[in-house]
Amino acid sequence: MTCKICFNDFDIKSFTNLFNQKTCICNKCQKTLYPHFYKFKINNCNGVAIYDYDDTIKSLIYQFKGCSDIELKDIFLSPYSYLLKLLYFDYYLVYIPSLSEDDTSRGFNHVKEMFSILNLKHIDLLTKEGNYKQSDQDYKNRENICHYLKLKNNVKLKNKKILLVDDILTTGNTLYYSIELIKRLKPKKIKVLTIAKVKPLNNDYKHKYEQKNGFLQTFLNKIQEKFNIRAIKNDK
Ligand SMILES: [Zn+2]
Repeated sequence: MTCKICFNDFDIKSFTNLFNQKTCICNKCQKTLYPHFYKFKINNCNGVAIYDYDDTIKSLIYQFKGCSDIELKDIFLSPYSYLLKLLYFDYYLVYIPSLSEDDTSRGFNHVKEMFSILNLKHIDLLTKEGNYKQSDQDYKNRENICHYLKLKNNVKLKNKKILLVDDILTTGNTLYYSIELIKRLKPKKIKVLTIAKVKPLNNDYKHKYEQKNGFLQTFLNKIQEKFNIRAIKNDK
């Protein structure tokens, strides 16, 4: 298999890939994209952010999203798709929307493509109207997002578990108001999963999110520990 980041060949059947046969990046690249699995809370819902929005992730997201390189769509989640599918098997994905004109010029919806590898059911629920572009707004005006986000369908979400997904968690505003809207439809549960997160710039910010190492990180550490112990034993 050829790694989609460094273009080197790697063995997908190796022991380290035992749980992620769907991976499309080599172990070396996987390590450079070190996943943190940050746990946070936003609008009373639990969320997980897989990566820090560091320079590596930033340039890869830019290459995928800004340069419309659809080939990169699976690099962010494929190493953990098995794990994430297990965790969220009974959830419906809801994508945080982008402006439809951006999707049209890009040729695809980047969030939808990034999460497609999980193969979970999804509900088309939210839409962004008007010419609100988050990146053009300063931090204060970003709160205006609540006037642009709309529920697309008045579907009933009773007994349904919702997994709100997005690429980058910045101020948390869009997520906060999306949750606010979805709560009106009374789903059974709402959780959040984002690819990366930016550290909150302003600690006084009213929707700042808490973070701590999540159980996923603990779980991964445990696997790593086990693997190391086994490797030492094999040496003897
Ligand atoms: Zn690689």
